[in-house]
Amino acid sequence: MTLRGIAGSWLLIGDGETAPIEGGALLLDAAERVVAVGAGDALRTHYADARWEQHAAVLTPGLVNAHTHLELSALRGKAPGGRGFVPWLEGMLEARDTLGATSDLESIDAGVGELLKTGTVAVGEVSNTLAPLESLSQAPIAARIFHEIYGMGKGGEQRLREAEQTWARRGDGLAENLSYTLAPHTLYTLDPQLVRELLARARRDSALTSLHLAEHPAERRFLQDGGGPFGRFVQSKGADTTGFSPPATDPVHYAEQLGALAKDVLCVHLADARRDELERVARAGAPVVLCPRSNLHISLKLPPLLEMLEAGLRPALGTDSLASCPSLDVLEEARALSERFPTVPARTLLAMLTGWGAAALGLQDRLGTLSAGRAPGVLAFEHAPGAVPKDPEAFVISRAPAARQVLSRPRHVL
Ligand SMILES: [Zn+2]
Repeated sequence: MTLRGIAGSWLLIGDGETAPIEGGALLLDAAERVVAVGAGDALRTHYADARWEQHAAVLTPGLVNAHTHLELSALRGKAPGGRGFVPWLEGMLEARDTLGATSDLESIDAGVGELLKTGTVAVGEVSNTLAPLESLSQAPIAARIFHEIYGMGKGGEQRLREAEQTWARRGDGLAENLSYTLAPHTLYTLDPQLVRELLARARRDSALTSLHLAEHPAERRFLQDGGGPFGRFVQSKGADTTGFSPPATDPVHYAEQLGALAKDVLCVHLADARRDELERVARAGAPVVLCPRSNLHISLKLPPLLEMLEAGLRPALGTDSLASCPSLDVLEEARALSERFPTVPARTLLAMLTGWGAAALGLQDRLGTLSAGRAPGVLAFEHAPGAVPKDPEAFVISRAPAARQVLSRPRHVL
């Protein structure tokens, strides 16, 4: 079997530690798995029989978008932001009512197309309807599907049954590149016993699940005393909250109490988390996903990245849905962070997009880094042949739009 040799001006591993390899190259087998990585000259000598190709480009692993809601793709640009979570939620629900579900499938297909075009090889997809399953199952993307449940009060059992029915209808013959787990939406939109039940079900399958946590101040306030903007929203909807009493503690502590702060629960956002809370997340070993452009759109606020890194967290990045983010290109999340946190090294931001993203989804042995034994996908960020960038990591993250080519796209079995 002939190996494929890919050489570039630079090669970036994506682990957040290894320095860029100038004149780096890698070899792929027929399953898109990396056989060897290193200095191009040495590899060309050692693997002289390979089919070699040379690119005027910086080579990176494929990207991981660790938090999406593809079923909301029809809402691109339709939910105004800048006024906090509850006004955004109201705008989003109104737009969703106006639009109806008919345009969903088409926009989901377009969303998956955007993921492919931008070099995304894995996603953490949160879904209520499971409508994106069909489109994702046909794409060469590894997808952790988190079937999200929300709603308080009586009818928890009923909601679980409905979820099971949706799963039976949509999940039949789940494609090999998808995995499936039930997931709690948040701690302030579910009764505690239902959160525990969903966690127990995920754990029975030894599966990773997902939770929106410490996203915004209205969440903190509602958990404290049931008041604030979310309390008023719940009242205005006449929602049944009989099974819920405010725990009168912070979101992270409440997550600890419910067993939701753990290695197998992906914490999404933490944009409103404080230093001591981030330290508790880190101590629990919980994986973390940040969606900076979504936080900016909704609340004009970024997640506390510096405190997170100081606490020892290794966050992944996600775009969130198109109802709160202008595109599904996760690289733009790193660019948004780079502009506002200029002291964070480009190597760290690149790891958030690749190796750390894979680790957050429990896929670190399969993808995320250009290292032997993995099938991470390969991207080429092109430059003019005579203009090799001096700092290839900054080149990839920088605003100047480098053309991005997808050189390898693996198909994973999860
Ligand atoms: Zn979300």
